[in-house]
Amino acid sequence: MMPYFDNADMQYIFAKYTHFFHPEVEVGLSKNIKSQKTIKTINDLPDGTVIFVHTGKVISANTRTSIQIGVNKHIEPGRYGVYTNHSCEPNGVIRTKMNAFSNTATIALIASKELKKGEEVTFDYATTENFLTPEALLSKCLCGSVKCRGKIMGFNNISESQRQFLSNSGLLADHLVEQYRNFMNCSN
Ligand SMILES: [Zn+2]
Repeated sequence: MMPYFDNADMQYIFAKYTHFFHPEVEVGLSKNIKSQKTIKTINDLPDGTVIFVHTGKVISANTRTSIQIGVNKHIEPGRYGVYTNHSCEPNGVIRTKMNAFSNTATIALIASKELKKGEEVTFDYATTENFLTPEALLSKCLCGSVKCRGKIMGFNNISESQRQFLSNSGLLADHLVEQYRNFMNCSN
């Protein structure tokens, strides 16, 4: 685990916020992806910065914009979350928390790298989603990374070596960490 989003920090963040948006981040037009909106920084921000926190009702099926927080559990990620684009080499990470008894969940986007002014904040959709909706799965990835997979894919569609890499990266959402650990235990 990397220090900027260890469990103690996340407990603090989730206890403090149900909704938050960093004042030095804005919704604007993407440079990388033509005529697509994005969230980007207004100033340099250190890694570990909380970009946004959003709480929403848990739904059982994914949509084009939802973020997965468990098995058959998804939430719509709010005004800022819907504009957070995918990158195969992201500078952000999604952390999730189920809220007992209320059928809601809270998600947070945390900077996993130092961000420069004007930089678009992204996360890797394969770190939260098992599968994407069919229309999203067919999208060509425009992240521009040298590590680009070519298509935007969920965790179940990437290669085994990529799954292994993500499971050791600290970027994978808790529900996929658990799922992958169970899978590895069963196949050993
Ligand atoms: Zn890519």
